[in-house]
Amino acid sequence: MRAGAVIREAGYDGEYGVIRLFADGEIGRLQHVGVLFAPSAEKDTIASSRPSTAATTPVTRLANTKEEGPKESGAELDAEQRAAVMHHAGPLLIIAGPGTGKTRTLIHRLAYLVRQRGAAPEACLAITFTRRAAAEMAARLTPLLGDEAEKVLVTTFHGLGLRLVREQAGRCGLEKEVAVASDEQRREAAIAAGARPGEVARWLERISRAKRSGSPGEDEEIVARYDRVLRSANLVDFDDLIALPLRLLEKDDELRRFYRQRWQWLFVDEFQDIDLCQYRLLRCLAAADANLCAIGDPDQAIYGFRGSDARLFGRFQADFPDCRIIALQRNYRSTPPIVDAAMQAIEPETLAHGRLLAAVRADGNPLLIRPCATDKDEAEFVVEMIEKFLGGHSFFSIDSGRSGRGMSDLSFGDFAVLYRTAAQAAAFCEALGRAGIPCQCHSHESLLDQPLVRDLMAYVEKTPPDHSWRERFMAAAAMMPADQQAQSREFTAALLPVAERCGQDMARLRSEIAILSDIDFLDPRAERVSLLTLHAAKGLEFRVVFITGCEEGILPLYFGGEPQDLAEERRLFFVGLTRARERLILTHARRRLWRGSVREMQPSRFLADIAERLIDRLPGARRKSRKDDRQLSLFS
Ligand code: ATP
Ligand code: MG
Repeated sequence: MRAGAVIREAGYDGEYGVIRLFADGEIGRLQHVGVLFAPSAEKDTIASSRPSTAATTPVTRLANTKEEGPKESGAELDAEQRAAVMHHAGPLLIIAGPGTGKTRTLIHRLAYLVRQRGAAPEACLAITFTRRAAAEMAARLTPLLGDEAEKVLVTTFHGLGLRLVREQAGRCGLEKEVAVASDEQRREAAIAAGARPGEVARWLERISRAKRSGSPGEDEEIVARYDRVLRSANLVDFDDLIALPLRLLEKDDELRRFYRQRWQWLFVDEFQDIDLCQYRLLRCLAAADANLCAIGDPDQAIYGFRGSDARLFGRFQADFPDCRIIALQRNYRSTPPIVDAAMQAIEPETLAHGRLLAAVRADGNPLLIRPCATDKDEAEFVVEMIEKFLGGHSFFSIDSGRSGRGMSDLSFGDFAVLYRTAAQAAAFCEALGRAGIPCQCHSHESLLDQPLVRDLMAYVEKTPPDHSWRERFMAAAAMMPADQQAQSREFTAALLPVAERCGQDMARLRSEIAILSDIDFLDPRAERVSLLTLHAAKGLEFRVVFITGCEEGILPLYFGGEPQDLAEERRLFFVGLTRARERLILTHARRRLWRGSVREMQPSRFLADIAERLIDRLPGARRKSRKDDRQLSLFS
């Protein structure tokens, strides 16, 4: 809406006109990729003047083109990005810092290969980290490829795994209608396999770790018993979605050849966060000379606790010895103070030594750091700042006498409030709610970890199966306790399109939901402030970013009195800093309710690594009556 991309159809003779946000077919395309929500189409469209060549087979078409490159109108790519886009054969590794256009390059490369190099869209497989990112990528491909975009498979590793398990169910010893086990079913399987009631959570954790590592070691017997129970009910669990296809493909040359023939152009975004089993699966799909393009940033590796391993960059280079490596060094996202601060913050533990990252933008204000008396004060401060920004307040001309560019065109969707743990969200939700500021709150956790979703789905399962999904969800929402009905309506709206793709198949819907995470429901077009865990903010960008809770114990997060993986905590801080395009505000509280008791907190050690010249320190907990706030005159 902000871009003015609204479709207005005039009314006539007593009929109302229609205002539409979606063009014909757009909803269908978004549903096709799995999530209704999608960002507005990228403005930097490669609108090729070349007619698209319809694919005749799902393999590479013979390109009847000369090497022109992506010179289509509006395609802004720098020399390195262009080189990456136009590298048309063999393995390619793009290692680059945040905001350098990695994701954009990946999308343009895929479009270029289809439009200019004759790659069949059905032969392209793009893998990214979340369903939301996959949906965004698919939506950004649409203006570049038109209807051909629908033929490209854009998915996550687990989405790909589910597809492979379904396609190869027989070979895995499963029936075709195989489903992903719910948490309840996993718990029952653990008990049936021998876990005592108090041990179930620990057993499931051990089983999951064993499956993710690919070598169960001393847990082999437990895993085998648990798997037998699941298989007898035609069930797999989340980790099986990678482990089963991997086992199958690693031992079956013919099957590997089959899939290598099907997907001849492979693209992987956020490579730094894949784990060894996912890498091995990728390796099965890609021969040593495959057209595999992997993109990532070792300094943004933040899923070590789930087994991801940034050392796989080295393994990639060993396994694909002829790979071309391209570095991108220009940051298009953030202002110079933000880029400089982020580089200083990561420097002590960087995994990309000697890397350059230069901001393309010339303007920029210093970071703001604000000490807060308590966590409540922190939430109030964030609300107050958002109100001031929205009111066109220029902090530097008023607060410290420095000149600052007004940001009067900001709206709610331009703000993100980031924090280390989901437990910190409640204070911000409450304070924003009190101020009447709309927000959306998401974490990186599995959707089924949300009690509300679990309850909603339990009620849906009780509704008559011959009714439409809409009726079933409405009936389920009505069965929820009164105080949960408004938030469940939101999940209903989000889950309904997923359900409608599953026919009447409840088991299939359960499987689809099992591979979704909460962040998949972030709506980038919503005019709401985004409240996100730092993990969930990966890959996103906002004009104004608050990183809250910059305190020892929280960021870095302590386990048992000290950080478990200080380097990964630092990378998480780095990811947070680099989400900001124009303004970055860091807060820390001196006292907060944390893990059940009120504690005195110290500022995060990470703040000390940022040079003073890049910072404006705001005075703490200054109580000002609202009438003292000076508003900028509308007419000045
Ligand atoms: P991250 O590491 O956070 O995932 P990234 O490297 O994937 O970042 P993108 O999200 O692709 O970066 O791009 C960051 C921003 O810079 C986007 O707004 C994108 O449109 C813009 N951008 C990238 N390349 C260019 C370019 N050549 N010209 C103008 N803008 C660009
Ligand atoms: Mg990216």
